[in-house]
Amino acid sequence: QAEKQTLGFQTEVKQLLHLMVHALYSNREIFLRELISNASDACDKLRFEAIAKPELLEEDPDLKVKISFDEKNNSLTLEDNGIGMNRDDVIANLGTIARSGTAEFLQQLTGDQKKDSGLIGQFGVGFYSAFIVADEVTVETRKAGVAAEEGVRWTSKGDGEFTVEAINKPSRGTQITLSLKEDATEYASGHRLRNIIQKYSDHIGLPIQLQKDVEVEGDDAEAADQATAVEWETINKANALWTRSKNEIKDEEYQEFYKHVAHDFEDPLDWSHNKVEGKQEYTSLLYIPKRAPFDLYQREAPRGLKLYVQRVFILDNAEQFLPLYLRFIKGVVDSSDLPLNISREILQQNPQIDSMKSALTKRVLSLLDKMADDQDKYYEFWKEFGQVLKEGPGEDFANRERIAGLLRFSSTEQNEQRVSLADYVSRMKEGQDKVYYLIGESLAQVKSSPHLEVFRKKGIEVLLLTDRIDEWLMSHLNEFDGKSLVDVARGDLDLGSLDSEEDKKAQEEATETKKDLLERIKKSLEDRVSEVRVSTRLTDSPAVLVIGADDLGLQMRKILEASGQ
Ligand code: ADP
Ligand code: MG
Repeated sequence: QAEKQTLGFQTEVKQLLHLMVHALYSNREIFLRELISNASDACDKLRFEAIAKPELLEEDPDLKVKISFDEKNNSLTLEDNGIGMNRDDVIANLGTIARSGTAEFLQQLTGDQKKDSGLIGQFGVGFYSAFIVADEVTVETRKAGVAAEEGVRWTSKGDGEFTVEAINKPSRGTQITLSLKEDATEYASGHRLRNIIQKYSDHIGLPIQLQKDVEVEGDDAEAADQATAVEWETINKANALWTRSKNEIKDEEYQEFYKHVAHDFEDPLDWSHNKVEGKQEYTSLLYIPKRAPFDLYQREAPRGLKLYVQRVFILDNAEQFLPLYLRFIKGVVDSSDLPLNISREILQQNPQIDSMKSALTKRVLSLLDKMADDQDKYYEFWKEFGQVLKEGPGEDFANRERIAGLLRFSSTEQNEQRVSLADYVSRMKEGQDKVYYLIGESLAQVKSSPHLEVFRKKGIEVLLLTDRIDEWLMSHLNEFDGKSLVDVARGDLDLGSLDSEEDKKAQEEATETKKDLLERIKKSLEDRVSEVRVSTRLTDSPAVLVIGADDLGLQMRKILEASGQ
């Protein structure tokens, strides 16, 4: 297909383009970070493909990104010699947004610049950010391994349509030219570009080169232009960040690198960088994002680490290195001893991967442990990812106790989910040997529960669990620090030595004298209850329903009912 074709952007792209230009206006320079990030990814992909097919590198094996500008025409060009794209790739990658759930996500955007920039950030807009500064974007690209005539040109003014046509492109890779908006001339200046590139690309493992300012001498500027070949200057360190030693990496560099690997616009909350030597050798750089992605609960959502082997990029979203309940972690693992030709399939059944997974899991748990020292910071984390962490005890038996230590709950003492099991234990009453909790739909509902009456009377704290996952969580968590966890709505609550002798005696006596009444109540409720008992647990309410010790809880019943069981 040589002819020029005009196609429409997918609806989501149109919405995104419109919102993004407004939302990110105050932080426009990030477009360059996104384009450099893509160019670097493209080079990474080619380097990987070239392991099996070295001929893909053609006569041009030194992968790099070149950035040039034209002050006169107010334009900016980025060129990489990476993997490139064919016509289908171009249409799929630069015309649609493949991530599922995007439409729903976009509906949450409000048009309020401040709010939306955060939301768009966690979505990762990438290539389209070029339109924040450009009124027209031209992409010329040729995929590695195909003939020069199979090049493609893509153009768009970002207004809903784009064109694609075949071109002849002898050089492999992608060249992106931005025709800058009138108010974006600053990005056609060498000085400004140099600063931005420095800021955004020191962590990138291949050279990012900027066109040197050409001193034009004499009157005939045009003749001078033709006479001088463009000279290039490498701006960045060009060492992959994780390969450098910790003490010479600045926080800002860690943060920028995060934005590149995680496709996020915001800084991460925290990170952990480690080199492991010995039987297995690998480096990991793991990040905790500030914000949960919109598709954290979608099955097919991308998750996992970027896998490198000896600094060669191998796979994105390698999910085999962390358990599901840590799927929010982003970052890189670079192994020195896995084979370069490792595939997703092999990753699935490799004992070496299993042992890395268990070590990386512990790394993350330690990072969280350490972060928990700063309660407010940890609470920031907890609000975003606590629900996912609660999947942990059910999924990861070996680390159950450690994960339990990282959980936070609301309680009768604290509305926000800030109470750790250790806090609770440290506040236990004299003679108390159990951790008490109550599960329900909402804080308001559990707080008015008659089950709490006796605990209020005795001044005992009760954890209040109101998340959907809590019942499932508690079914995998029976004790903490040697103390059993007890659901106060279940069975015959045994308060042990917290019950006074009088209470016990009163209960026994009442059971004896009210025998007939109990029988009658039971009869009239027929088989809707299995037992009717006298209790000293209530101070204000006349009666309360309890669940049998081994019966399904209310949340689980609802979940099963909803699923038709
Ligand atoms: P992301 O980088 O998060 O995948 P982007 O919007 O930045 O999203 O880019 C979309 C896709 O376009 C990329 O995944 C890639 O397939 C393709 N692409 C973008 N820039 C380039 C490039 N310079 N070379 C090759 N492919 C590219
Ligand atoms: Mg990108």
